[in-house]
Amino acid sequence: MFEILFLGTSASAPSAKRGLSGQIVSHNEYRFLIDCGEGTQRQILQSGTGFKRLTRVLLTHGHLDHILGLGGLLSTFLRWEAIEELEIFGGRSTLDRVHTLLYDVVLRGNQPPMPLKMQEIKPGIIFEADDFTITAFQVSHRGPDCLGYVFEEKARRPFLAEKADELGVPFGPERRELVAGNPVTLADGRLISPDQVLGAWEKGSKLVVVGDAGKTDDLLEVCRDADGLVIESTYLDEEADMAKQFSHLTARMGAELAVKAGVKKLILTHISRRYREKDVVAQAQSIFPNTVVARDFDTYQIKRDIQDGR
Ligand SMILES: [Zn+2]
Ligand SMILES: [Zn+2]
Repeated sequence: MFEILFLGTSASAPSAKRGLSGQIVSHNEYRFLIDCGEGTQRQILQSGTGFKRLTRVLLTHGHLDHILGLGGLLSTFLRWEAIEELEIFGGRSTLDRVHTLLYDVVLRGNQPPMPLKMQEIKPGIIFEADDFTITAFQVSHRGPDCLGYVFEEKARRPFLAEKADELGVPFGPERRELVAGNPVTLADGRLISPDQVLGAWEKGSKLVVVGDAGKTDDLLEVCRDADGLVIESTYLDEEADMAKQFSHLTARMGAELAVKAGVKKLILTHISRRYREKDVVAQAQSIFPNTVVARDFDTYQIKRDIQDGR
């Protein structure tokens, strides 16, 4: 299961109710900050989630509404908050701009207060833990190096305790070995293979976070069968021309992608001040009913099979 906390859900400029882009995706003890628009650190404080273990930042692209908050965050780390390290992932041009912001504007010759790593990434797996991966993929938006991220639990085979009981497999290391896929020999000499006690492969949860995008046809495969899709919705269909001009999506385009890709739940964000939330929801839901528009501080749990509401 993945959890996503929205820290900011506004497009381009903040509104009274919405801050600029920022989301935290969590899985067990892992936490990732995706984008860091201006004001993100205050949203983190207000949400009560805190900075602990928030050491990895994944950037979708280098537009200011997605990165300016890093300057404030580092400024705070210089003076007060302690954090073990900070690792910032992004495409080359995104990191170039962030480097200027952090080193030329904030640090100005001073050393960062903690190990600060800039990880230049390209599409492909960028992070792997025991039971999940993060894969970056190319997104078409203004400028190069725009990325989205797929969070996906690894497929697993459930342990069938009843089968193990029937076969007389004792509790302890034998069961751990079988779960790990290794055969074991019992005290009475019988050889037990993993296939005897493991069920069929089950896919893990899949969460896709797109960020800003100007078209969706190149996102279809990467979004296929996702349990949750988070995507921008800067415009309504009535301004489709403007959406195209600025390389953004309409609510309709996100919803059509969700239908085509067989997504379970659609979460729209990057909402423009020019629209009412209910109009955005209505347009998307007319095409894909299981759509919500994220608000600041909303949390969603994304898991296989179960569809969660707000
Ligand atoms: Zn943006
Ligand atoms: Zn942008």
